[in-house]
Amino acid sequence: MNRQFDVVVIGGGMVGAALACLLAGGRDEFRVAVVEAREPGVPDFTTERFPGLRVSAISRASQRVLAACGVWSQIQDAGVSPYGRMVVWDAQAEPFGRGSICFDSAELGVSCLGHIVDNGLIQWALWQRLRRLAGVTLCCPERVTGLELDEDRVVLQLEGGQQIGASLAVGADGGASPSRGFAGIEVDGKSYDQTAVVAHIRTERPHQETAWQRFLPDGPLALLPLHDGRCSIVWSTTPEQAAALQEADANAFHRLVTDASAGVLGEVVDSGRRASFPLRLQHARDYTTTRFALAGDAAHTVHPLAGQGVNLGFLDAAALAEVVLDAVAADRDPGEQQPLRRYERWRKGENLLAASGIDAIGQLFLDRHELVGVARRLGLTLVNDAAMLKNEFIRRAMGLSGDLPRVARAAGAAVIDAQASWSE
Ligand SMILES: Cc1cc2nc3c(=O)[nH]c(=O)nc-3n(C[C@H](O)[C@H](O)[C@H](O)COP(=O)(O)OP(=O)(O)OC[C@H]3O[C@@H](n4cnc5c(N)ncnc54)[C@H](O)[C@@H]3O)c2cc1C
Repeated sequence: MNRQFDVVVIGGGMVGAALACLLAGGRDEFRVAVVEAREPGVPDFTTERFPGLRVSAISRASQRVLAACGVWSQIQDAGVSPYGRMVVWDAQAEPFGRGSICFDSAELGVSCLGHIVDNGLIQWALWQRLRRLAGVTLCCPERVTGLELDEDRVVLQLEGGQQIGASLAVGADGGASPSRGFAGIEVDGKSYDQTAVVAHIRTERPHQETAWQRFLPDGPLALLPLHDGRCSIVWSTTPEQAAALQEADANAFHRLVTDASAGVLGEVVDSGRRASFPLRLQHARDYTTTRFALAGDAAHTVHPLAGQGVNLGFLDAAALAEVVLDAVAADRDPGEQQPLRRYERWRKGENLLAASGIDAIGQLFLDRHELVGVARRLGLTLVNDAAMLKNEFIRRAMGLSGDLPRVARAAGAAVIDAQASWSE
């Protein structure tokens, strides 16, 4: 095995795998290694377990990034759920009434706002593609246990005892990111003192290809449409209530979710497994240091209320691939400081803006003061009625505006996807 690479990606989750696809797919002779601790499983397509418990609302920009990776059509064929509307309302209000906001793809002249997709499916499709790219070496299961960063190259220490060298190492190893620690990069953050409970449910009435979100006093409850008619719920609440939800028997759980969703889709009639995730806001102080960069959750974690976490990560991957491939095309070293700084300036600003906006929305809805509640409902109504403001808001969330990497812009990505051969 070649032990010298142009880029080593640490962590082959959705973001790391997408980055490796873009780098290796963008330049034939580019040598990319992915070091991943856990081999991704094959999604259980034919059973109730698909889609799996972890799903994401994938923006149109992320769809383009996945198309540029050469995997969107396969993901779409395996089963995704487009959603055409998003309805958000305050617990004291009614959906579609005052104190609510409704985003509709028809108003924007697009076919849908985004898709709900199984995380495992995305990662699996990307890995299938990586296995077919000539320049890629997959080191899995393997763990990075140390990093030596110097002016000339990076040396990565692997748990198995081997060392590998590269011009650039990228930490895409998730929120706890060991590599971020090895590189000496600090993070700012806070716990939300909230836990998200996720489960798939079946409701009396159809979901109408709509993403529903009701803001309760302890946090939001989202009902996301799945392609088999079920909904995936993400209920962010106090750790105590999350524990009670985890332990409740099926009937009690159905009753609690029906009440919390104000019966917007009628009674909850069935549900599957449940899982919980403690929520944190986290942002790395630096995105880069000598021959090292962070991407995805390793750089930032945000509250799931806006469904933006991995979407921001895919834009990191696309931006980093763009600056690195541009540097290489100009005969420069991919680990040089200048392209890394360009990446940092670009993505740190965009991500900070998104993270603080999402945090502000979360705080506003948690404020129990009566006057704040009145102002909040008034604000939602005003934004709902202000077409231009509303459109700009949703276009940004969908990745149709903002400072986007080339592959995330409208032209180009679909062509790459169509060209990618896929026979496995
Ligand atoms: C309840 C919930 C709902 C969410 N919903 C949405 C949504 O709707 N839309 C959205 O955009 N985002 C959503 N998110 C956020 C999204 O799930 C994350 O942003 C995304 O999973 C991060 O992907 P990643 O590849 O950066 O990190 P990860 O998925 O954490 O991947 C990191 C990888 O690194 C590997 N690794 C770790 N350490 C090492 C090591 N030392 N050596 C080698 N490999 C290592 C791990 O095994 C893992 O595979 C949600 C999050 C939560 C909690």
